[in-house]
Amino acid sequence: MPVISSKYLLLKAQREGYAVPAFNIHNLETLQVIVETVAARRSPVILAGTPGTFTYGGTANLVMIARALAAEYQLPLVMHLDHHETLADISAKVHAGIRSVMIDGSALSFERNIALVQSVVAFSHRFDASVEAELGRLGGQEDDVMVAARDELFTSPQAAAEFVDRTGIDSLAVAIGTAHGLYKAAPQLDFARLEQIRQRVSVPLVLHGASGLADEDIRRAIGLGICKVNVATELKMAFAGALKAYLLAHPDATDPRHYMPPAKRAMKGIVDKVITLCGSEGKS
Ligand SMILES: [Zn+2]
Repeated sequence: MPVISSKYLLLKAQREGYAVPAFNIHNLETLQVIVETVAARRSPVILAGTPGTFTYGGTANLVMIARALAAEYQLPLVMHLDHHETLADISAKVHAGIRSVMIDGSALSFERNIALVQSVVAFSHRFDASVEAELGRLGGQEDDVMVAARDELFTSPQAAAEFVDRTGIDSLAVAIGTAHGLYKAAPQLDFARLEQIRQRVSVPLVLHGASGLADEDIRRAIGLGICKVNVATELKMAFAGALKAYLLAHPDATDPRHYMPPAKRAMKGIVDKVITLCGSEGKS
């Protein structure tokens, strides 16, 4: 079983009205627990890594682990470049076997964002790698991408249509009020805007910053055309929380085979919850 593009998973989700969960991975254990859990639920999945994740884990290592897990579970897996910012970086990782990329030019002007995305689409489509791009800006922090709350800029439906048309992207990440990291207060999502974007844009839409959103908001966004839901922070919190609790309770523990399983079980709980919310069970 290969590591594939996300395009066909997202188009199927769009046709059938559910969302594919995109989970951020960091190491062997997080890849194992996500793939084991989606395999048991027969859910499609996107395994996402930021540039920092691939630097930390090693691109070749992470791709090989994903390939091994795809073979073990007889499941096509998507490994996805989350928030990558340069063609050079993306090109190196596509050559290493990755077939799903996000180019994040959302900090650039509209025209510069388009030019950057066009270059990534021209390159990636030669390898049947799908391309996600972002228009508008999210709040919060993902790796070193900081956006001050006052600079938040929601996606304009008109600009989104032009952006998708001119770039030829396969999916569009929208800014409708979500943020990366944790929410200080419950966010007010702009569902009317999402509806207008959906009416003007035919490619699958992507929601970043789903950690900590109300379940009802996620379901409503999926009902309005969101086909990929990104979850990172919630997974990290569950994993680290259980690991800390175990080590505090067992201060003499030194064996990862003992202290990792509780962390993996805690993460599995979040993965299961998100699969249910996305409606993706049985869709793989
Ligand atoms: Zn994101």
